[in-house]
Amino acid sequence: MLTDQFNRLHTYLRVSLTDKCNLRCTYCNPIDLPKGYFSQTNKMSVDEIDAIIGVFVQQGIKKIRLTGGEPLVRKDAKEIMMRLSKYPVELAITTNGVFVHEFIETFKQAGIRSVNVSLDSLNPKRNLIITGRDEYDTVRRNIDLLLENNFHVKINTVIMADVNAPEIPDFIALTRDHPVHVRFIEFMPFSGNHWNKGKLFTLDEMLSLIGSSYDYIPLHNDPHDTALKYKVPGFMGTFAIISTMSRPFCGGCNRLRLTTDGKMKNCLFSKTEADILSALRNGDDILPLIKECVWNKAEALGGQFTSVDKNLDSTTIINRSMINIGG
Ligand code: SAM
Repeated sequence: MLTDQFNRLHTYLRVSLTDKCNLRCTYCNPIDLPKGYFSQTNKMSVDEIDAIIGVFVQQGIKKIRLTGGEPLVRKDAKEIMMRLSKYPVELAITTNGVFVHEFIETFKQAGIRSVNVSLDSLNPKRNLIITGRDEYDTVRRNIDLLLENNFHVKINTVIMADVNAPEIPDFIALTRDHPVHVRFIEFMPFSGNHWNKGKLFTLDEMLSLIGSSYDYIPLHNDPHDTALKYKVPGFMGTFAIISTMSRPFCGGCNRLRLTTDGKMKNCLFSKTEADILSALRNGDDILPLIKECVWNKAEALGGQFTSVDKNLDSTTIINRSMINIGG
């Protein structure tokens, strides 16, 4: 069992398959990151991913989400999914959606039923500005393809006050006739992404904007949920808000992370990492390292800031960029 000193049991592991991405989202993969920032040469092999995950599963991990970077740009992504399908866990994936049509059959064979797709604007031109690539039509087609194939589809939308916040009601309109679940994510600070308070559009601001267009009702939330869920009565889908910055949900956190270079993070904002891959390559037992890393998890937000720190200077946070951690 993976329990920390605040008695939180950890059953959910997010595994980054790569820190490469085919998109250049301003908030995640800033173009001005220094050369050599990425760690491709040292990424976990398929066998190493399998071996490390095997230990986590023995310790009670019940859900694994593959992420990145963009997990579907990794050449052996299909092999990894099939290898992991043997574990008695819920296997899920987060993707930017661009290559989903090449993976539908693999998802099915590997038992992946839940796919999160990132989409930050319903305006193709704005989407191009945010992502740096003209892939809007492909992503929309692939969301439809997932729905036609009965996948549980969540759309992840990072909301930035000065960029796409006014589109929130348009995203909710998508849930009228489609069983999609849109999740509005408060913009979070990471290395190099130029976060500042002015760009943050909070949970309260989102609900106030939504309330001017729709009557909505809250839905039940489980203790480990990171998103507050809502629904417009009569609509097929739902919407949710991930309020990491204005109302963090650390008390019920059950998540751990493994970066593509085999470092374990006990929190998205943790300052420190446990080098699991080097230990594995040295032939050491990795379980004590994993347990120690879980035990040392800070009470909230990696111990780096608190929800009231809206004047936070993001340059003081010790962390990698989101693309490099695995979102
Ligand atoms: N490439 C995949 C994708 O686009 O979904 C997976 C990796 S991406 C890092 C995972 C999630 O992190 C995406 O939904 C993305 O929107 C979110 N994300 C990245 N940077 C973020 C930030 N600064 N604040 C909030 N969410 C962020």
